[in-house]
Amino acid sequence: MGLLELGYALKVFEKMSDRSMLRKMLDLLVHASQCQCRSSLCQYPNCRKVKGLFRHGMQCRTRASGGCAVCKKMWYLLQLHARACKESKCHVPRCRDLKEHLRRLQQHSDSRRRAAVMEMMRQRAAEVAGEVAELELAVTEKSYRCLRERKGTDTVLSVAQT
Ligand SMILES: [Zn+2]
Ligand SMILES: [Zn+2]
Ligand SMILES: [Zn+2]
Repeated sequence: MGLLELGYALKVFEKMSDRSMLRKMLDLLVHASQCQCRSSLCQYPNCRKVKGLFRHGMQCRTRASGGCAVCKKMWYLLQLHARACKESKCHVPRCRDLKEHLRRLQQHSDSRRRAAVMEMMRQRAAEVAGEVAELELAVTEKSYRCLRERKGTDTVLSVAQT
């Protein structure tokens, strides 16, 4: 799943009027990944549903890459969870993989941004160097002209003296 899709998913979720529903869903995700109860008597009424989602994710042959809507939904939730998750020993499926993946994406965009800044600075430095070179050239030419002019008057003076 690309970053673009994730961004889209986040936008969709942000637009959701009931943000607390999403939080409940993410809580449920964490719970279901740890819940050991085999019965349907879990305090979370949707626990079995989420467990079913996990099971589906493990068994599905279509997968999100093949267009499975259930898998896509699960991945959205898992990615949302991983973004906010601070638990290094998290039991949510793929959470550690996703965190690592997100961290690398972040690093990648950081280094790309750094490279862009470096390139900008290099260009600016080249510009400045160019300006300095032009300035130096102008100064040299001017002083050369001064020198020549002074030499000219010196010659005139020496001619007048003789
Ligand atoms: Zn449960
Ligand atoms: Zn699926
Ligand atoms: Zn987690």
